[in-house]
Amino acid sequence: MAERTLSIIKPDATRRNITGKIIAKLEEAGLRVIAQKRVKWSTADAEAFYAVHKERPFFADLVSFMTSGPIVMQVLEGEDAVACNREVMGATNPADAAAGTIRAEFAESIEANSVHGSDSVENAAIEIAQCFKPEELVG
Ligand code: ATP
Ligand code: MG
Repeated sequence: MAERTLSIIKPDATRRNITGKIIAKLEEAGLRVIAQKRVKWSTADAEAFYAVHKERPFFADLVSFMTSGPIVMQVLEGEDAVACNREVMGATNPADAAAGTIRAEFAESIEANSVHGSDSVENAAIEIAQCFKPEELVG
């Protein structure tokens, strides 16, 4: 079924100027970028986005990493977009990521792992609404 998911290209990737290489992987996987913007998050923005992780030991480091440089937020559309994007991203820890995935090819570490992708259709809808106005989505 055609779905939408939220993708974020993280600061480790914008710093290394590889956003185009990552977008090429997404497009090759059949995903279509229907909204995109480059922003720099404040601490409050990152804490709000990652609120589900606030009890995790890595939360403070994650917020500091996600505010360390620009990010590129995207809405991706395609068949089973949530699962398709998770597959092309690869496992959270690049050491476990399958060959050919974005994280296997580009991630620096379990934290600086180049991309975020929504983990369910429900969370995708919430995250898209957090990051974009409805009129910014152009399918
Ligand atoms: P994302 O939510 O970014 O798509 P994910 O769903 O694969 O990634 P989560 O478990 O939701 O992973 O963790 C969110 C993010 O927190 C990870 O992408 C990574 O940047 C960071 N993170 C996760 N686990 C660790 C850890 N053990 N140490 C440091 N950072 C971590
Ligand atoms: Mg996650």
